[in-house]
Amino acid sequence: MEYLFENITAVTMDRDEPVIKGAYIHVKDGKIAYLGTVRPECEAERIDGRHKVAIPGLINCHTHVPMTAFRGYADGYDLQTWLNQYIFPAEDRLDDRAVAACTDIGLAEMMASGISSFSDMYMFCDTIAEHTEAAGLKMNIARGLTCFSDEFDFRTYPSAVETSELLGRWNGADGGRILVDACIHGEYTSNEKVWRSVAEFAAENSLGIHLHLSETKSEHEQCIQKYGRTPARVFADCGVFDVPVNAAHCVWVSGDDIRLMAESGATAVHNPVSNMKLASGIAPVPELKRAGINIALGTDGVSSNNSHDMFEEIKLAALIHKATTFDPKMITAFEAIEMATVNGARAQRREDSGRLREGFDADIAVLDFDRPHLTPCHDVMSNLVFSARGSDVVMNMVRGEIIYKDGEFLTLDIERAKYEMERYVLPTVCGVK
Ligand SMILES: [Zn+2]
Repeated sequence: MEYLFENITAVTMDRDEPVIKGAYIHVKDGKIAYLGTVRPECEAERIDGRHKVAIPGLINCHTHVPMTAFRGYADGYDLQTWLNQYIFPAEDRLDDRAVAACTDIGLAEMMASGISSFSDMYMFCDTIAEHTEAAGLKMNIARGLTCFSDEFDFRTYPSAVETSELLGRWNGADGGRILVDACIHGEYTSNEKVWRSVAEFAAENSLGIHLHLSETKSEHEQCIQKYGRTPARVFADCGVFDVPVNAAHCVWVSGDDIRLMAESGATAVHNPVSNMKLASGIAPVPELKRAGINIALGTDGVSSNNSHDMFEEIKLAALIHKATTFDPKMITAFEAIEMATVNGARAQRREDSGRLREGFDADIAVLDFDRPHLTPCHDVMSNLVFSARGSDVVMNMVRGEIIYKDGEFLTLDIERAKYEMERYVLPTVCGVK
């Protein structure tokens, strides 16, 4: 299909002209063929853009999408209690059928709030990939890898074997919509043999590594007690930072950690809602920014959020660092949206995503700006960051395909997913009778 958005406000995310009013966006063959204020000659289907704002599809750089099963399941605990006493035992009861329903619920939430691409770390990756491919979103997928014993051989360890299989089956699938990352779940859930082997595997196959880094104070300090070094430093000493790293959280990283991340070109994924909900702390985003680190945004799994609405992350990323530094200019509205678009695309190594620009993928989220809480609009960026919500999204287009429009999911059976969640997932996984 070929589309022409007419008279729309386009948020390009280009620094010299970030917002173009009265714009025409011509979408052809999955790409933005034209963006400008002169109406192009074409036979495309027209989309009326009056009172609407088009932004680059948002990029959620850290989640565990099937964790929708655990939305509100164990509130009020810190990370270690929450994981060990509630989440890990329930996850042991998951199967493909449950993951399918949970994934669809998570995908639907993301589609309805303007997310075009996400980075996931979980189990049952074939099921997640099949459902994401069918829904039409982009994804960087990583098979979560934990290892609690000293015995580890990448060639035989089950989740490492699954990583290799995932690579063969899914890396570059669906025209590159789906990419595969390697994974280290975290320093506290694995060991040196794992870190060296995963770093080697990622380097050999030109992959990035998705990992959790210094999310909690106890995890960070126990690592220093055990190894005399921080989690980032022990990873670096095993070659982990020799490949592109997507490091979720970074709440407790030290000055030395920040320097080594900056030198290696790693991305820090800021998850403000999850970090506050699990009482983990606030990531030193001002210091990460000063060091020139690529900072992206993530929701984390909805079990610790409890939604996939990136507008909440954008708003909090813009707000909390003003409060901690007493500097109202610390993270500007533009920078907060940049984290959720341009920086996210860089983290996912998708160079033709994250902006509205000719030649880029037509990943476009459209918001209805004709709503009371968006009126008036002195500044589009300001309204996007401080006033908009995910529910203001009225259309989500990924690579030129409309996957969500006016409350309708065009590529996913939401009623079936809700039925399965109620009738199958809740009784079998969460013990709800
Ligand atoms: Zn996580």
